[in-house]
Amino acid sequence: MISVKNIVKKYDGKEVLKDLSVDFPSGKTTVILGPSGSGKSTLLRSLDLLVRPESGILDFGDIKLDYSQPVSKKLSFDIRKKTSMVFQNWNLFPNLTVLQNITTAPITVLKRPKQETEEKARKLLEQVGLGEYADRFPSQLSGGQQQRISICRALAMNPEYVLLDEPTSALDPELETQVLLILEELSKMGQSMIIVTHNMEFARSVADKIVFVEDGDILFDDTPDKFFNHPTTRIKDFLSGIT
Ligand code: ADP
Ligand code: MG
Repeated sequence: MISVKNIVKKYDGKEVLKDLSVDFPSGKTTVILGPSGSGKSTLLRSLDLLVRPESGILDFGDIKLDYSQPVSKKLSFDIRKKTSMVFQNWNLFPNLTVLQNITTAPITVLKRPKQETEEKARKLLEQVGLGEYADRFPSQLSGGQQQRISICRALAMNPEYVLLDEPTSALDPELETQVLLILEELSKMGQSMIIVTHNMEFARSVADKIVFVEDGDILFDDTPDKFFNHPTTRIKDFLSGIT
């Protein structure tokens, strides 16, 4: 499980995460919802140390980090190894093939053997329906295909958690479906995931837990059933598009 406790993040003196605490259970899919600018990306990036909060505790059970203290290179490496981020715009390396995009980090960062890593990468590509594309370059693929590859790239690192920040918001609806189906499949297989999304239908089908963030605070932290079927007035407004 990942727990964050009393996390405070400021930008230009303004608190964008306000003493926020939340758990992300292992083997489950937690979906983070909330209006634009509420702090969802900042929260997600704090888990991967892409953002460094002023204070708070990040607790992976076996490893803990106090954001207010200096962090050693080793601790930072150990924490980062536990998560892999999938970005909104996939961010594939344009000069590397699909296979190289997936295998570079496991080989160079994790020092995994090349052959074993490539075999695993090819398996992942098969799983997302892109087995034929290993030797192409990203520019030869659609946005939906590129995003499926970036999911393979994240999984190739063998993370405990896959973090996804609006993974389909840059995709046309017909390309979005293929990506969402893969994420639903991963969720069913018990892959620990934390997903920020604006797609309510997807949130409803994939989430084991919903966290609703507003103004740097957690307004709701409970089951999808409660969120969608028994919403508070504020959540009703959010769901009907009055953000
Ligand atoms: P969300 O992902 O929910 O849309 P963010 O976490 O991106 O929200 O942003 C939360 C708040 O922090 C917003 O007010 C945003 O403008 C601000 N913010 C985010 N990143 C930065 C940054 N690098 N510098 C200054 N302000 C930022
Ligand atoms: Mg965001």
